[in-house]
Amino acid sequence: MTHQFPSLSPEQKKELSDIAQRIVAPGKGILAADESTGTMGKRLQNIKVENNEENRRSFRDLLFSADASLSNSIGGVIFFHETLYQKSDGGKLFPKVIKDQGIVVGIKVDKGTAALNGTDAETTTQGLDGLSERCAQYKKDGCDFAKWRCVLKISDGCPSPLSISENANVLARYASICQQNGLVPIVEPEILPDGDHDLKRCQYVTEKVLAAVYKALSDHHVYLEGTLLKPNMVTAGHSCPTRFTPQQVAMATVTALRRTVPAAVPGICFLSGGQSEEEASVNLNAINRVPLHRPWKLTFSYGRALQASALAAWQGKAANKKAAQDAFFSRAKINGLASKGEYKPSGSADQASTQSLYTASYVY
Ligand code: 13P
Repeated sequence: MTHQFPSLSPEQKKELSDIAQRIVAPGKGILAADESTGTMGKRLQNIKVENNEENRRSFRDLLFSADASLSNSIGGVIFFHETLYQKSDGGKLFPKVIKDQGIVVGIKVDKGTAALNGTDAETTTQGLDGLSERCAQYKKDGCDFAKWRCVLKISDGCPSPLSISENANVLARYASICQQNGLVPIVEPEILPDGDHDLKRCQYVTEKVLAAVYKALSDHHVYLEGTLLKPNMVTAGHSCPTRFTPQQVAMATVTALRRTVPAAVPGICFLSGGQSEEEASVNLNAINRVPLHRPWKLTFSYGRALQASALAAWQGKAANKKAAQDAFFSRAKINGLASKGEYKPSGSADQASTQSLYTASYVY
């Protein structure tokens, strides 16, 4: 019991911790561009663009080539399997496009959620079968980190103890397999914003979920210095009648994290979870101004909150490419500043950036 059998060499550990540090270097966060084909379809449908491989490629191409200085604010990009093997307009494989900018390439490796039978529609996440082989292949194909999303929800009886322990365990098992294959695991236990619960309840649940996740990671001998956490911010439920300020959200979030996430974890990269682009930036900024010691980098790993304005500007038209790139680049820069607590909103945010991006029971 008191001995650990070695599982990673010093060289493997160094590689993992170097990768994690590069992704969350000061002022940098992650672009989550790993929407599954179905989720991407919903995004494209909103702008009346057909969900085909070429349109998905075109949009990702536009993001990946947005600006020569993208790497000042983006340290990592998460890909979906299809995108990893697609090419830019210039004929370069996308992973190379990203790496040539000094940005780290990541890959979504989970296979979506599956029902936990006998619970109130709670889920676990599948994809462990063959995971080691897939990770080894992705590493060869240029990836250095991975993402696996687990989903929990808040209601009177949720999350159940089963959902908390099952999701913590599957995240730990995934993380351990990634590390054996040289991939830094992003551990994502997302607590959905659905419901009318208040800030306190979300904080309590977030603490219980994260405590279980870090117990499981320890049980599975996961090397924390070579991991990143991707949690929800602590916010009130979407239907909660009370509004909370960014400072209240930030204090609740940092308090929950300080109580549960070991200082060995190099970075915490929040998901945006249906917040508007502007809200996600303002909250991240407030989090980085909380007057409490924060031993980890606190940054972003946004999907919706980095892409909404760009999609709205693009509309699937080549003529709008530059406008869409500018919109994305501007959000990336703002979030880079917010990750240092240096974002000062101008007070003139446009309509697309203040629109809620909430979807009930969100599937990624
Ligand atoms: P959102 O930022 O759109 O919530 O999603 C990020 C993500 O990667 C979810 O797994």
